[in-house]
Amino acid sequence: MMKTVAAVEMAAAADKNTKKQLKGEINTMKNVVILGAGYAGLTTLKGLKKAAKAGEVKVTLVNKNSYHYDTVNLHEVSAGNIASRDICIDIKDLVSPGVEFIQDEVIKIDTEKKLVLTKKHELDYDVLVVGLGFQPETFGIEGMAENALPIANVNAAEKIAATLEDNFRKYATSEEKDVKDISVIVGGTGLAGMEFLGELVHRKKELCSKYGIDEKLVKIYGLDAAPTLLPMFSKEYSDYARKYLEDNGIEIILGAGIKGATKDSFTIEVDGERKDLYASTLVWTAGVRGNKLMDEAFPELAKRGRLVTTQQLTVPGHDEIYIVGDCAAFIETGQERPYPTTAQIANQMGAYVGARISGKQVGDFKYINRGVVCSLGHKDGIADVMGGKKAKGFKAAKLKKIIEAKAIYELTDFVTALKNQRIL
Ligand code: FAD
Repeated sequence: MMKTVAAVEMAAAADKNTKKQLKGEINTMKNVVILGAGYAGLTTLKGLKKAAKAGEVKVTLVNKNSYHYDTVNLHEVSAGNIASRDICIDIKDLVSPGVEFIQDEVIKIDTEKKLVLTKKHELDYDVLVVGLGFQPETFGIEGMAENALPIANVNAAEKIAATLEDNFRKYATSEEKDVKDISVIVGGTGLAGMEFLGELVHRKKELCSKYGIDEKLVKIYGLDAAPTLLPMFSKEYSDYARKYLEDNGIEIILGAGIKGATKDSFTIEVDGERKDLYASTLVWTAGVRGNKLMDEAFPELAKRGRLVTTQQLTVPGHDEIYIVGDCAAFIETGQERPYPTTAQIANQMGAYVGARISGKQVGDFKYINRGVVCSLGHKDGIADVMGGKKAKGFKAAKLKKIIEAKAIYELTDFVTALKNQRIL
């Protein structure tokens, strides 16, 4: 079999390791398999690179695609404001000595045999890191999975952008002028939903100008069953976000139980009354769960694709398996509920696990909440970040971009960040 550069470098590292073992310097070279090249998987990899180069560990990274995508920017691609290539990083740029990348889909994790099955490979491991991320969850709402588009990954985001534009074009070119075609319903006004609505403010203007449509005719709804908007922010800030969207023609309906969806409508129940809203572009952001493979691998422990880890982010009873990112439900000692799943915690989990496997970290995982930012398009937003610093408007939008650039650096390196134009 032809050997890749990575395989040759790995063999050299293994050889060095064997020599060290003969000299009695180290005992074993751990075979570490990382599943998923999202935030959690890549920060784990970054933390292991030195050990891999030194031949102390052999690392295999498995990911469905040849690229990493920045999930925190998927709403921008979904609206059509940026291209998917702007949020993707080629994984081969991240491969270094002692690291092998396998582009394939994981289909099974066998914890008894310590094996990972992908569509084309069977991989054994000494240490496994599961960072397979999230999937949309529609909570069994009738017609939702079939009819509404989720902001789930790059392909799904591109589909939303294409559907939106196709519908505006259809309106402009058809005789009947069905207002449904220039209407959009977004189920869920959490961070992802609000950020997507913020992007639509800009995109709506652009599409109307491109297709000669009167902007006042466009209807965009943001719906949520929750009675309050963005509860992680102060009332002043969530009111600011709501006003920004409403001033730009977006209707926010809270306390709206979403009961069903058809190909062009959502049924909602507000104050006990049912109502149908119509739109040709239906988007679902109201629910996410951990990866389904988690439920199959850990039937006793995982719920909706998430597993309550130990304080060291391992699976109870399996010290050799770490769960990181959106597949992990981490409940800190003394707390009752897991932290919300975010890129921020995924990055910190990966950094912790990378350091732990390479022997640089022995304590428990501690999460440092650095605050939260909700962008409303590229020129507005709200921010409440570490140290009680608050910002709204343009400053908040810029702050978000700075945080994103820092996060990219944290999971890659300066050269890769620069090559991918992620340095501000
Ligand atoms: P992911 O980023 O989902 O990565 C998982 C990786 O695993 C992917 O590369 C995927 O292709 C791969 N994979 C999945 N299944 C398989 C398989 N079977 N085989 C091989 N590979 C597989 N968080 C914030 O902190 N701040 C924000 O502002 C923010 N904004 C958001 C906006 C949107 C629109 C969305 C959707 C989420 C946002 N989040 C935000 C949440 C954040 O993006 C997630 O918490 C984060 O992406 C989780 O990281 P992860 O590494 O666990 O998983």
